[in-house]
Amino acid sequence: MHSLPPIYLDYNATTPLDPRVLETMLPYFQQHFGNAASSQHPWGWTASRAVEKSRQQVAGLLAAKPSEIFFTSGATEGNNWVFQSLFNQWQDSAVGGSFHILSSSVEHSSVLKNLEALKKKGALIELVPVNSYGQVDVAEVKKRIRPDTRLMSFIWANNEIGSLNPMNELGALAHQHKIYFHSDATQAVGKIKVNLEITKVDFLTLSAHKIYGPKGSGALYVRSTDPRIQLDPLILGGGQEKGLRSGTVNVPAVVGLGWACEFCRLEMDQSLIRFTNMRDEFVKNLMAEIPGTKLNGHPSDRVYSNISLTMASKTVADALPALMRLGFSTGSACHSGTMTGSYVLKSIGLSQEQMASTLRLSIGRFTTADELNEALRLLKKAFANLQDEPNI
Ligand code: PMP
Repeated sequence: MHSLPPIYLDYNATTPLDPRVLETMLPYFQQHFGNAASSQHPWGWTASRAVEKSRQQVAGLLAAKPSEIFFTSGATEGNNWVFQSLFNQWQDSAVGGSFHILSSSVEHSSVLKNLEALKKKGALIELVPVNSYGQVDVAEVKKRIRPDTRLMSFIWANNEIGSLNPMNELGALAHQHKIYFHSDATQAVGKIKVNLEITKVDFLTLSAHKIYGPKGSGALYVRSTDPRIQLDPLILGGGQEKGLRSGTVNVPAVVGLGWACEFCRLEMDQSLIRFTNMRDEFVKNLMAEIPGTKLNGHPSDRVYSNISLTMASKTVADALPALMRLGFSTGSACHSGTMTGSYVLKSIGLSQEQMASTLRLSIGRFTTADELNEALRLLKKAFANLQDEPNI
């Protein structure tokens, strides 16, 4: 008996490595194995050149300067770096007063956990309410700005429901009030145009494994003009990355991140059209064929990859036997395994029952129309009450 192939629909959790990205990385494991910090010989120069090329490629995707890019192990590290460094700098300074942060309840756990940790150290954390699509309202943020507000942090694209925040307006507001603005852009970068000349974000985190690059590789952007900002290091040691992030640079992973960014930049326009159409067609058919299905997140103001659905007929657990071939997520991938319900879905008003009937499908570069047709068939089998249809 032939078993039918599985269908991967969890691109928001992680993406497969693009074979073209793998090709660019391979020489740096063996042939060009040098340490990028070895400035005395060609092995080091080759590695260092590759790292600097990657810095340009990452900057190119963001319309940033290469000097504003710092390599990290991923978005989690970047988020930790920003929160901890800014708070430590403030504590060590003579600024006084308090450290008030505006953020939201739908941030990634690597932001929320930092907020909790800073709260224990005395920071004042205020979470701005989100609308039913999970977006923050600029007027609500504005109302909460105080003289001691030192940082705003809002996710660019939500990892669970795909909604985009009004980043240009939030950035303008932050800059007008001279408040640092951080954004976890892990789910936005590579999918939509992120132009940091236009959007006034001061710190931005991204991760290679969400954009067809390797896991354990990411970058932090730190604005260098208007204003010029310098973070302190989180990791001390040999002084790599201008003394700000010590540890021997993982050259193959950095090269992979650079090329992952480059391919996203080159293919952005065509991917946007292709996958938005694919997603819209799929959602339209799904709604028509499985009555009562609800799409979570903003209907259009969202990244193309995310399809978060609340089903009407049964829970995801009850439907699982019919969905064994689909790779999808029942909440944020980082929370899978715990059936406590997602705080993001709770924040947009879903009940416990609705959360139990919610699944996140996410598509990307290697998703085909045939796969989506097959996914539709399986979802229909799982959730459409076919037994209620007349037997003719
Ligand atoms: N932020 C968001 C929005 C994410 O989706 C993820 C990955 N689940 C992270 C941060 C963490 O990224 P990394 O795996 O690179 O640490």
